[in-house]
Amino acid sequence: SQPQPSTRHITLIGAGLAGAVLATLLAQRGWEVEVFEKRGDPRIKGYEGGRSINLALAERGRHALHLAGADEAVMAHAVMMRGRMVHFLDGRTDLQRYGRDDSEVISSVHRGELNVILLDIAERAGAKLHFNRGLSSVDFNSRSATFIDPRDSSTHEATFVSLVGADGAGSALRGALSTETELGERTEFLGHSYKELEIPPTADGGFSIEPNALHIWPRGRYMCIALPNDGRTFTVTLFLPNEGDPSFATVRTGAEARALFERDFADAVPLIPNLERDFERNPAGLLATLYLDRWHLDDRAVLVGDAAHAMVPFHGQGMNCAFEDCVALAEHLDREPDRAAAFAAFQAERLPNARAIQAMALENYLEMRDRVDDEDYLLQRALERKLGERHPDRFMPRYSMVTFHRLPYATAFERGRMQRELLVELTRGHASLDTLDWSMVDAAVRERLSPLPAS
Ligand code: FAD
Repeated sequence: SQPQPSTRHITLIGAGLAGAVLATLLAQRGWEVEVFEKRGDPRIKGYEGGRSINLALAERGRHALHLAGADEAVMAHAVMMRGRMVHFLDGRTDLQRYGRDDSEVISSVHRGELNVILLDIAERAGAKLHFNRGLSSVDFNSRSATFIDPRDSSTHEATFVSLVGADGAGSALRGALSTETELGERTEFLGHSYKELEIPPTADGGFSIEPNALHIWPRGRYMCIALPNDGRTFTVTLFLPNEGDPSFATVRTGAEARALFERDFADAVPLIPNLERDFERNPAGLLATLYLDRWHLDDRAVLVGDAAHAMVPFHGQGMNCAFEDCVALAEHLDREPDRAAAFAAFQAERLPNARAIQAMALENYLEMRDRVDDEDYLLQRALERKLGERHPDRFMPRYSMVTFHRLPYATAFERGRMQRELLVELTRGHASLDTLDWSMVDAAVRERLSPLPAS
């Protein structure tokens, strides 16, 4: 039967990370939620791909999981990461803490496990999940959507009051919307791609390198990272340009990958026994930023998460931002009975913040691959830490604002810009913090940075 516009019925496209969290938050508030997901139920089939792909979960994401009642179940599988473990070319390593102490850390979570936990919680909250239903087209006039079952190509219709696109970076709903209205869509490719490899456990079943860190091998134009999994493995991600040398154009075979690793990531080579196999088997993923000027069509459809604002992964915030979107959308829908107004208010709140984290994620790539071993950068970071201690009410490292707090991303971006200018000015001509005039430094902080808003 056709859902009536007056009922609190809502149709979500995609039961990935954002779709499952939003379904839970809305079902908990008494909404009648139906979710259509292209893939099969991962709880029956096992997570597709089967590889250990993990994600860094931070405060914004944890807050949403807490509201959805999922935080405890997710954290039971998480591995704490205290900071970046930088692996230098000569084999030395250095742990750069992310926060002040172990209250300011991030967590590595397994994407498949996370999805399974969230689907269970969504279903328990009352959301109706339909798997093997890939959105293929939408008739916005009759409010009817067509889905294809990938197993037998059969088609299925469903009517809707409103559609929410939580169907990821390649969103089919976004495609359907763009034939109906001008979204102002632009995709900027980074010109770099990534490939995943695996570090297995040691022979006695332990972690083969420090588990409580995000490992980075920064090498200028390219880098490797590794995040721990609770199964004692690490997922390694190699980021390389698409062109030039080395790049995915020059490193094509397993043997070429081994040669690159032996030259540039030598201490990682003995840790990745199946380097050639992983490299040849796993696809290279493209990296891009997706910008839209509009996220909704009156009361009929709205986009969230990667469908609205996919970003490069270098701040580890795509999922965290998607979860924050879910909380915001559920709150707007609760507060504002006129759905078109609720969607517009959601977009007005979230779009500038999505732009800010997209920009910070791009900047972080440069920082991770090229600056974490640079003298000026290390001095600025040392001063940043000191100023954070001396002026906790005014100065907070940008990474902390983004990762350990819930200040709007746009505020973190703007304050981060002012703070960086200050750090560059104050350290100019100095080789260590010992030669700084602290009364002048303190006066500059008080003059240039207003007290931080509460978050
Ligand atoms: P997705 O998780 O992509 O979910 C979309 C869902 O929609 C899927 O289940 C899909 O099957 C389904 N779907 C697709 N098409 C259709 C259709 N036509 N009909 C129905 N269903 C459909 N973020 C972090 O916060 N921390 C990290 O450390 C991090 N690391 C990352 C590393 C890499 C290499 C990459 C690429 C991304 C990383 N991200 C990270 C970003 C994060 O993966 C995304 O931001 C997040 O998955 C977005 O969630 P989503 O629900 O919007 O989309």
